Amino acid sequence: MRIKRTLPPAAAPIEVQDLISGLRGMLRGGETLSKFEKELKEYFEAEYCFAVSSGKAALTLVLEVLHQLRPEQNEVVIPAYTCYSVPSAVIRARLAIRLCDIEETTLDFDLNQLSRQLKSKKVLCVMPTHLFGVPANIRKLRELVGEKPIFIVEDAAQAMGAEWQGGKLGALGDVGFFSMGRGKAFSTTEGGVIVTRDERIGQALQEKIRTLPAMRATGIVRTIGETIVLSVFMHPPLFWLPKALPFLKLGQTFYNPDFPIHRLSSFNAGTAARWQAKIERFRKLRCRNITALIESGILPPGPVGPQCPDLIRFPLITDMPERKRELLYHAERQGLGFSPGYPDSVAAIPELADQHFPPESFRVAKDVAARLLTLPIHPLVNDQDLQKIIGSVCPPLPLFNLSP
Ligand SMILES: *Cc1c(COP(=O)(O)O)cnc(C)c1O
Repeated sequence: MRIKRTLPPAAAPIEVQDLISGLRGMLRGGETLSKFEKELKEYFEAEYCFAVSSGKAALTLVLEVLHQLRPEQNEVVIPAYTCYSVPSAVIRARLAIRLCDIEETTLDFDLNQLSRQLKSKKVLCVMPTHLFGVPANIRKLRELVGEKPIFIVEDAAQAMGAEWQGGKLGALGDVGFFSMGRGKAFSTTEGGVIVTRDERIGQALQEKIRTLPAMRATGIVRTIGETIVLSVFMHPPLFWLPKALPFLKLGQTFYNPDFPIHRLSSFNAGTAARWQAKIERFRKLRCRNITALIESGILPPGPVGPQCPDLIRFPLITDMPERKRELLYHAERQGLGFSPGYPDSVAAIPELADQHFPPESFRVAKDVAARLLTLPIHPLVNDQDLQKIIGSVCPPLPLFNLSP
């Protein structure tokens, strides 16, 4: 066990003041949740906003409602490289996964393959994903979908509060969702948000969410405990401790369709009391770190433009898997908070073997999984950390390169 400064790979700090707001929110009960949802509606200029127990719960509810609206369609098109919670939610909603490969330069869909996938009459919706906060091209996707009866479900789990070309990510599709889990842009420890302006989707969601059970007392006690522990131990001087406890399984990604679905508890909603100010503050701090990396010549995938992309982790695609392993190994010893990203393409998840995904169709996803790692850029990364991160990714040139 190594007791020294250790960065978490991602963090949206929960402060004492948030904990107090959470407890106060719990005493106020349902009013706390309505207040949060009202603020979300104003912020996203969307008639329908719902706060639920997690991002995957949000996605499951969205998919169930879309399937109610178009029962003859049951396929959900998702990127072959994404968070394992996404296929978990599709299976939980009893729908079929249709994978589409990605492009290495954008981490967005391979549009050629996507246009073939969208020819299936069974496709219910397609899920552009702002992975790590890298904006997916929703405009182009809209063109590709055209007049087809296919919904665009925006996976903005990692992009709450992010903007791109003047639009708020998550509010650009027919319906979008966010995660407020640990390590996202903004966190209430656990939580998810659904946003839509579509009358039919919004009404159907409202009906469905009204009947959801509330979080049970045991769940509330657990989430309060987790919030307290997390708010203390996510700080770099202490993070070595939870990281050393294997039963916490920090940073691991699982496929598991069995998760609770309920409304956001008034405790978690209470911890969101200052959400807009915090999102703004965290975004500025991350942007400073992102800019420092870019100025050192480390470039993230995604669209290039004058605007600093609002990443929550900085994806770095190395030239080969050995290089990824080497960087992870050295960063681990220095406590630099590098993370290996998702372990493999969705096609390789053992529990999904019965879906018979043709492995050769998702080569880029598999290859990116083998070579991608993420660098921390969250608000708890200080200047010294940043210099170490940059130094470990861009080693000084060996001397022989300098000789004539
Ligand atoms: C985290 C995440 C989810 C799921 O959110 P949870 O709140 O963890 O359930 C879905 N999609 C992506 C891309 C994510 O990163």
